[in-house]
Amino acid sequence: MNVPMLDLVAQHNAIKGDVLPAMMQVIETQQFIMGAWVPQLETEVAKLSHARHGIGCASGTDALLLPLKALNLKPGDEVITTPFTFFATAGTIHNAGGTPVFVDIQPDTFNIDPAAVKRAITPRTRAIMPVHLYGQMADMLELMQIGRSKGVKVIEDAAQAIGARRKIDGEWRMAGELGWVTGYSFFPSKNLGAWGDAGMMVTSDDAVAERLKKLRLHGGAKQYHHDEVGTNSRLDSLQAAVLLAKLPHLAAWSAQRREHAAYYTKALADVRQVKPPVVDLANEHIFHQYTLRAERRDELAAHLKKEGIGHAVYYPVPLHRQPCFAHLGYKDGSLPQAEQAAREAISLPIYPELTRTQLDRVIDAIRGFYRCSGSRSA
Ligand SMILES: *Cc1c(COP(=O)(O)O)cnc(C)c1O
Repeated sequence: MNVPMLDLVAQHNAIKGDVLPAMMQVIETQQFIMGAWVPQLETEVAKLSHARHGIGCASGTDALLLPLKALNLKPGDEVITTPFTFFATAGTIHNAGGTPVFVDIQPDTFNIDPAAVKRAITPRTRAIMPVHLYGQMADMLELMQIGRSKGVKVIEDAAQAIGARRKIDGEWRMAGELGWVTGYSFFPSKNLGAWGDAGMMVTSDDAVAERLKKLRLHGGAKQYHHDEVGTNSRLDSLQAAVLLAKLPHLAAWSAQRREHAAYYTKALADVRQVKPPVVDLANEHIFHQYTLRAERRDELAAHLKKEGIGHAVYYPVPLHRQPCFAHLGYKDGSLPQAEQAAREAISLPIYPELTRTQLDRVIDAIRGFYRCSGSRSA
């Protein structure tokens, strides 16, 4: 039995009774652009994020690009971010006219290290962009304090973290609640996935919410009147309808992912060649990915492939070592934690619909590779 890395068909089969009628409604009314589903989804996602405004857009990438554009970056302006993330995090900084400044990560959570952020602040720093990697939040308390004390904005890349939360001073704070603007992705493989590209920004800053609404519509709130140059980055009504139908399932899906993660972690606890993901005690992780550090990672990957078991390496080349950022001058060894993570990380299947038998197959394959005998679960 093969175990795929992700099985969107399994999810679809379980919920198509909800999603197809919602889509048909859009089709029957032909309200494809900015139909009622869009503001409805914006309200729901803002509520989930404890934020005042949701602003739909065309992708998770645009959900980062538009708030960066709202900063009116000038050449040489810097945005501090992590090198251990999907490319869009830094690509958007560049495309908004800024310079990405990469700082190292914390080895346990893989998230940006606030102490390193503090050291990297200069008079040119305009924003800090943490990523809540794999579905667990970065240290937002520290990052917000640094941002406040230095007068720079914090833009959360929550593409992998919708519904994740963190206990701060005894209170649960959602991804998207504390930052200036937060970007979500609804790429199909994300925890809340559309049937194509889609994204959303959330914020509690009324002024920037107005600005973002204009930026996604060619810079004008009123048709054919343009206050500034924006772009076309709308969220389709069809995608909004799909997402609205899926949203009520999100909490249960995240709980399933956590259950699978706990099962893997327990079953691999005695395999000394792998280190299961560390969940910061303050965090409720949503396990967009379940990512191990593994000895002989590439050999393990080859073994899993041979066994028909899905896996992926997120991310094999940290962004400060990408050819397109060579001009920034980061050398091999300059951000050692990110580089080590890129050599050791391997993600396993963690989608909600996985069965116990499938989880056991994955576990047996890993134990087999390291020749770990004994029972997989006590
Ligand atoms: C997926 C992702 C994005 C970009 O989202 P798209 O919807 O694919 O444009 C940005 N940042 C991170 C960390 C992501 O995982």
